[in-house]
Amino acid sequence: MRFIGINGGTFDPIHYGHLRAALEVMQKVGMEQVRFVPCYQPVHRGTPSVSARQRCDMIALAIEAQPQFVLDSIEIDRGGPSFMVDTLAQLKQQFADEQTSLVLMMGTDAYAKFCSWHNWQEILNLANLVVMHRPGEKLDLHGAEAKLFAEREVKQFSEACGQVMELAITQLAISSTAIRADIEQGVLPDYLTPYRVCKYIQKQGLYGALAKDS
Ligand code: ATP
Ligand code: MG
Repeated sequence: MRFIGINGGTFDPIHYGHLRAALEVMQKVGMEQVRFVPCYQPVHRGTPSVSARQRCDMIALAIEAQPQFVLDSIEIDRGGPSFMVDTLAQLKQQFADEQTSLVLMMGTDAYAKFCSWHNWQEILNLANLVVMHRPGEKLDLHGAEAKLFAEREVKQFSEACGQVMELAITQLAISSTAIRADIEQGVLPDYLTPYRVCKYIQKQGLYGALAKDS
């Protein structure tokens, strides 16, 4: 089977937490590629701080040295609320052969609310899930998510959809929220995100950064 990772998020901005997690999951599952899918209109949170174009530009700068990482603007091109189930249905048509498995990647924070996602049952008909968690910590799930996890958990994907895999990744306590707050205070996110992303933030004056020409 051929595995294609789907890494959805706001990426406002992208940082090394996203990038390292994507790399480790790709290597552990044996994925052919990971598609970074920035949302257009988030469903469970407010409007992003910068434009879709700027979030895409930063992703492109961050992943350019890794040919297996692909920027996919499918949700931005579609417009409207970014429901992951719609994205997966579209991608399923794009990768129509039966040998391809779409693997939706998410952190434990996202998985803990998975059963509140729009049409989540259908998501399991379209993709497998990888839940990324802190090494050394127990996956702390409750209610419907815990039940779903217990029923579907596997160590290796044997089906093209409907299975859930838990993977420990190197924990990098980096978040876009903290990065935005720092920039507002005049601190650039050096070493939290690739150099070229930092430069772009500075040049474009994003998140309240002072624009610089150099
Ligand atoms: P924000 O603080 O704005 O919510 P974020 O840093 O959480 O941003 P998102 O774009 O919301 O980033 O996250 C997209 C996906 O990346 C989610 O599945 C989330 O669990 C995962 N993720 C975010 N930060 C990390 C990190 N440091 N390590 C591993 N996964 C992460
Ligand atoms: Mg988040």
